[in-house]
Amino acid sequence: MGRIALVTGGTRGIGESISVMLKAHGYNVIANYAGNDQAAQEFTERTGIRTSKFDVSDFESVAKSINDIESEIGPIDILVNNAGITRDGTMHRMDFEKWNAVIQTNLSSCFNTSRAVIEGMRERAFGRIVNIGSVNGQAGQYGQVNYAAAKSGIHGFTKALAQEGAAKGITVNAIAPGYVETDMVRAVPEDVLAKIVRTIPVGRLGQPEDIASSVLFLVADEAGFVTGSTLSINGGQHMY
Ligand code: NDP
Repeated sequence: MGRIALVTGGTRGIGESISVMLKAHGYNVIANYAGNDQAAQEFTERTGIRTSKFDVSDFESVAKSINDIESEIGPIDILVNNAGITRDGTMHRMDFEKWNAVIQTNLSSCFNTSRAVIEGMRERAFGRIVNIGSVNGQAGQYGQVNYAAAKSGIHGFTKALAQEGAAKGITVNAIAPGYVETDMVRAVPEDVLAKIVRTIPVGRLGQPEDIASSVLFLVADEAGFVTGSTLSINGGQHMY
């Protein structure tokens, strides 16, 4: 059996595709999710991938769950911080709850999970961490001060942790997807989405596999010289 990979938010959307692609390439995948038990059950029936239910924004719960996974299955060599939510609203309408939920789920989660695996990775002198950011963390987005701040934070987090891990065989990279066709994007009104697609040079929304294939590249043993980088995968919408 291959290296053990934990994919947060790994049961739906981009995360599902990452879980499936890693499994297809021999990794031993555990897909985390928050609360949608039905989606998780259907995911396991479809893919045969085991799941682990915990809230990535809850430090204690993450620490306990990762400890349980490592005791039961073995050390986590690969961590994909993919879980994320949106709670959009312009600044003058945004309440603290929306701000905090997005910061905790999208950004603090990266601290919570990475903290739980980093010591083991350092001891074993191997680790791969991939954080899913967003084009909206690079460019900002109207109605998303919370999401843009969290995703922008992920890019800084990635570069700092990459520096700490480099001499220990741990690479840390980020992916900044553009608009990818998942439930998150299907929630955007159709006319707004049509306008967005017109700004994407390749002329379509991304598919979850467009992101998963880059995760596969970044977590490989052979990718040890790639660290602290951000891959912008957005159909040419923004060329950073
Ligand atoms: P989806 O909404 O399709 O899926 C989200 C997944 O994250 C689900 O498995 C969900 O679990 C899980 N999740 C949500 N909150 C938590 C939590 N607190 N703890 C654990 N798991 C949680 O999202 P996408 O696939 O669209 O997005 C995946 C990532 O990609 C996110 O970080 C998003 O910000 C980023 N991204 C997405 C883009 C897009 O266009 N779709 C563009 C740029 C970035 P459950 O099923 O239990 O709810």
